[in-house]
Amino acid sequence: MSTTAIFGSHVLSRDASGAQQVLTDRWVLLEGRRIAAITATRPSADQVFDAPGRFVLPGLLNLHNHCFSEAVARTHAEDGAGRRSNKSIIYTVLLPLTKTGIDILSREERLAIARLGILQLLKGGATTVMEPFRNGIPEMFDAAEEMGLRFYGAPYLFSTADAKAGPDGVVRYAGDDGAADLAAWNALHARWEGKGEGRIRLAMSPHATDTCGPDLLRACAARARELNVPITTHLAQSDAEVATIKARYDGRTPAEYLDWLGLLAPDLLAAHCVASTDDDLRLMAARGATVLNCPRVFARTGRTAAFARFAEHGVRTLIGTDGYNMDLLGEINAAAIISKVTTGRSDVATSAQLIDAVTVSAAAAIRRPDLGVLEPGAAADITVLDLTHPHLQPLFDPRRAMVALANRANVDMVAVDGRVLLAGGRYLHGDEAAIVAAGSAAVQRIWALPEAQAAFRGEG
Ligand SMILES: [Zn+2]
Repeated sequence: MSTTAIFGSHVLSRDASGAQQVLTDRWVLLEGRRIAAITATRPSADQVFDAPGRFVLPGLLNLHNHCFSEAVARTHAEDGAGRRSNKSIIYTVLLPLTKTGIDILSREERLAIARLGILQLLKGGATTVMEPFRNGIPEMFDAAEEMGLRFYGAPYLFSTADAKAGPDGVVRYAGDDGAADLAAWNALHARWEGKGEGRIRLAMSPHATDTCGPDLLRACAARARELNVPITTHLAQSDAEVATIKARYDGRTPAEYLDWLGLLAPDLLAAHCVASTDDDLRLMAARGATVLNCPRVFARTGRTAAFARFAEHGVRTLIGTDGYNMDLLGEINAAAIISKVTTGRSDVATSAQLIDAVTVSAAAAIRRPDLGVLEPGAAADITVLDLTHPHLQPLFDPRRAMVALANRANVDMVAVDGRVLLAGGRYLHGDEAAIVAAGSAAVQRIWALPEAQAAFRGEG
């Protein structure tokens, strides 16, 4: 069994009560796919990483990301571009262009985009990612397995894959793809669940409340619970969604709609919830559901998605990158700042809370007590930050440095299942420049389409 020893000037641990504690000058020893020990003396190991000023953390969990759809929008959707009256681009840019991309790109091109996304996720410090994507991009699984990421693939289910927002913003669709999508999901589950020595898993992923009808949502929940897989969806992500659900289902809010169908439960991870009422959040807290907070993708549109608002309602709240900028450290920094500005308080969304949100709380949401902690027996998933950079010195508190001052450029090392994927900030198992070039070229084939050009002009 191969062994790896990593020296941390600071090592994130937990005391007997489960509270965070930062140990000083310790070695973390990985043995095979598990953490074997945390020691004060240097252990012997096949591979030794002994550099000063490193902060060794459990591998970070980024449980909401989209490698594909946001690549298609990248730098096309800032500064109000591509938006009608500052409305959401989900139904005008992200969904239609991803759908078209699946049709025109080759398998090798889709794989190239997936690899580019996963490279960014790893360099952003994540070791576990939950990724909802269209079931026509199964190459996400191939790329995750090949590149060594711990991956919860979440192929979408839609009552229709062709939902369109009218000029009023209300989402309408015809037809029903639900049964076909559930069959496709089942086939992907049979093909991929447990692959890569268990690193590849699936989550059930009905796309959103306004694109999934009651029959499909009930069927998704039943199947997910039969298989004991997490359920993830988009919830209350726009005002148009709230209006749509209210009109369709007797005045219900999106959260009430999911509760009515039995989905609001501890196995549900709900992205965004920015258009939730306070009562919705109280209901989610009572049901034990989880909010996936992705503050930067909303900040881009001038909308507040404050971690503190969800957390203060008692809802388990995690941080994800939503594909926009796959820098999990940058995202927790944004979560802190946006929460403090929104509440007018400096003592909310603390470093300790936000570190929990990408470690132990995230692991609990997917019922993985072996992740998100550095302790003997846990999975050997590690994220290491280099705190010797000038902007992180002088250093008093490594956790505050991580949240307030660090960014993805400070990710020094990432290991998943005991395998070192990133060292010295570089991906070790492939040519970064070649991955970037191939992924970019594939996305530019979509950008060149007339319908993409129209969508980017706000005519989608
Ligand atoms: Zn999303």
